[in-house]
Amino acid sequence: MEICRGSQCLNVELVAYSLPREGGVDKLIAESAAISHAPEFRTLNDERVKHLVNLLKKLGHESVFEHACFTFRVEGISRVCSHQLVRHRLASYTQQSQRYVSLKNPKFIVPESIFGSEFEEEYMDVLERAATLYRKMVETKKIRKEDARFILPQGIETKIIITMNARELRHFIELRCDPSAQWEIRTMAKEMLKLAHEKAPILFEDLYEKFILDKSDQQL
Ligand SMILES: Cc1cc2nc3c(=O)[nH]c(=O)nc-3n(C[C@H](O)[C@H](O)[C@H](O)COP(=O)(O)OP(=O)(O)OC[C@H]3O[C@@H](n4cnc5c(N)ncnc54)[C@H](O)[C@@H]3O)c2cc1C
Repeated sequence: MEICRGSQCLNVELVAYSLPREGGVDKLIAESAAISHAPEFRTLNDERVKHLVNLLKKLGHESVFEHACFTFRVEGISRVCSHQLVRHRLASYTQQSQRYVSLKNPKFIVPESIFGSEFEEEYMDVLERAATLYRKMVETKKIRKEDARFILPQGIETKIIITMNARELRHFIELRCDPSAQWEIRTMAKEMLKLAHEKAPILFEDLYEKFILDKSDQQL
């Protein structure tokens, strides 16, 4: 078994995003919005793109943001985290299956608070025993993986692919980067925000300033 301390094993990659023929995501959104007030499709310069994307955010005309999509590949999160993630219904997910993938050498995400606490030894012992019993059941082939997995704790590591349109991604970030959100999904959401901001700096600027640049944020 392998132990991941906090978000030590977290890896978030942006593997795909909507790219127009010319320019980036911000341009795609601004030029999509522009047709609502123009007789023909138009090409906008950088200044107009910035103005329009910021105006859409200010006015709450967010449906235009749905034209851009982001696909993330995430590993090193627990099933505790992925369970919270998939509550966001306007996204698409593909998650590693515990029916088909053998978890004979499992990774467990262990919260920082456990390390150094009076419970650390007992906690690790329970993980070890669960992993050992799982392996034993699967190796005998008398118990199928889909049943053996019931013994595995929620801290077991998972891998998932997430596709969100930019409107849903902004909503997800608002909820999950907030200090009231749980630390693991919050850390993951912040990584997603950083990656999205690189590709759509105008669209995600407000959220980036609020959640990434905010020096008063003690939970980072
Ligand atoms: C800090 C925190 C604590 C939480 N604690 C709990 C908890 O204790 N228990 C619990 O069960 N959940 C909890 N949740 C999950 C929460 O209740 C939501 O299920 C989750 O955040 C998804 O939010 P959402 O529905 O806005 O988003 P999404 O599913 O991503 O949907 C986006 C938006 O689309 C619209 N929408 C989507 N589906 C519908 C629909 N069927 N009808 C109408 N409008 C729709 C809504 O405007 C919604 O805001 C918590 C979430 C957070 C952030």
